[in-house]
Amino acid sequence: MPCSCLNDDPRIALDALRAATTLRVLIDESHFIVSTRRCPLCGRCFLSIFTETIDWADGDDPQVWTCVPLESHELDRLHAAADREPITEDHLLGLSIRRRILVRRAPKAQPESADWAVRDLTIPPHD
Ligand SMILES: [Zn+2]
Repeated sequence: MPCSCLNDDPRIALDALRAATTLRVLIDESHFIVSTRRCPLCGRCFLSIFTETIDWADGDDPQVWTCVPLESHELDRLHAAADREPITEDHLLGLSIRRRILVRRAPKAQPESADWAVRDLTIPPHD
């Protein structure tokens, strides 16, 4: 049975990922936060991408949280790149990741939703 962090129920996986240990913060802007995390139960590493757009009218800022399971060589590559230079969106997209990715969306004035799907890694719009 897979660990909670890979549970088919996205709510269970999100809870596990909230509890995951942050390894390194790669990008830290107020509306764009990228970090690597490690599940304390199974040791699997993830790329966590938090994006937010400002809702100037109502202050109900739409948010998206993207969680990408990483292979250890991908984690090493990212951390090595971060040692050399500031990480940008191009680094993330350059990983050319297509796999089962967990996305949690909290759109404006709508209930939040989350799902796992096989998809290409994309960076949602953010301020
Ligand atoms: Zn796990």
